[in-house]
Amino acid sequence: MKILVINCGSSSIKYKVFTLASEDVLAKGIVERIGMMGSQLTHVLLTGRNVEKKTIIEKDINDHQAALGLIVGTLLDQEYGVLTSLGDIKAVGHRVVHGGEKFSEAVMVDDHVIKSLRACSDMAPLHNPPNLLGISATQEYFPWARQIAVFDTAFHQKMPQKAYLYGLPYRIYQEYGVRRYGFHGTSHQYVAERAAVLLGQALGDLKIITCHLGNGASIAAVKNGIAVDTSMGFTPLEGLVMGTRSGNVDPAIIPYLMEKEGLSVEEVNTLLNKESGVLGLSGLSSDFRDLIIAEKQGNTRAAMALDVFAYNVVKYIGAYFMIMGGTDALVFTAGVGENSPEMRNQICSYLKFIGVEIDQVKNSVNGKETIISNSRSSYKVLIIPANEELMIAREVKKLL
Ligand code: AMP
Repeated sequence: MKILVINCGSSSIKYKVFTLASEDVLAKGIVERIGMMGSQLTHVLLTGRNVEKKTIIEKDINDHQAALGLIVGTLLDQEYGVLTSLGDIKAVGHRVVHGGEKFSEAVMVDDHVIKSLRACSDMAPLHNPPNLLGISATQEYFPWARQIAVFDTAFHQKMPQKAYLYGLPYRIYQEYGVRRYGFHGTSHQYVAERAAVLLGQALGDLKIITCHLGNGASIAAVKNGIAVDTSMGFTPLEGLVMGTRSGNVDPAIIPYLMEKEGLSVEEVNTLLNKESGVLGLSGLSSDFRDLIIAEKQGNTRAAMALDVFAYNVVKYIGAYFMIMGGTDALVFTAGVGENSPEMRNQICSYLKFIGVEIDQVKNSVNGKETIISNSRSSYKVLIIPANEELMIAREVKKLL
């Protein structure tokens, strides 16, 4: 049985086709710049883990419907497709960012679910509307297929009240659902599960700090398999300094800036979400690769942005170490966490005083499951590449 996993963003759709039983990925790809100049599809045909063929199609793609049409056409292509007919796809798994308090696990999509997701959309205006577009577009192409929504917030739903409540009047939570939800849950869950396998211990016996450090970045405290706290909050803006997002700021800065610069709500949202983070600090780039190169060339603003990023990661590690009463392992995942030995070193250098020691040969390995702490280290440090799509495929399997 084949299933399609879709991750639909505001201007992109990522996809993977899995064989459900073996969990093999047959093909994967991304449509980028939907509704913009220079839109294109990159499609990769895989055999085992090897890339068999990579195809790039440059074409005007006006909306998500058209993007999915192009994906479907590519999947059916005789040369680089993996389907003989659309009927091969029996189910579609969707990454949905915000499930609010309603969804603590994956669900089969029906009209009631769609209505609930629409209701959550004002809490995730950048994410949930495109997720819904992805669901409706796939429903048109695969009307027979089961549609399954897997939520970024679900893994965090078991967080205790003391971790999810803000110090606001309680009625704000009661009336509007304003609380910490947490995001990247599928990723935190996946890497925590993999870490337990690599460490040869039961997840239920472990305390793990999972660091999802990508363009969006968050940290979670996973105690005995439960996410007991996480850095993102009501929206994915809270917590760490990110690629373009500010992370935590004093809330009083917002009205202050609105007044000083005459900013509207939309403008201040743009400032915090798109113009801040390491991009805003460095004035150079949101891409950590650019910043690491610039730092090596002596760019002090790039160095400062990387410093602020690492420092904030360490603050959360410290906090989660305390609330869990210690930790067994620290896990790095996502673009920066998986691929940047420099950033892993920068973060772990703060942890030397508690006995964390990194094996520099192992730390030079990128994008591969590895234990990078040495045998003397008091705590294990691991790299686990993110694989949210596989986790979604597994949720689909479970529900089917
Ligand atoms: P993600 O959001 O998980 O896709 O991560 C994207 C981010 O990973 C990009 O902004 C890059 O800055 C970062 N990244 C990817 N490869 C590397 C690398 N080799 N070194 C440092 N950062 C990297």
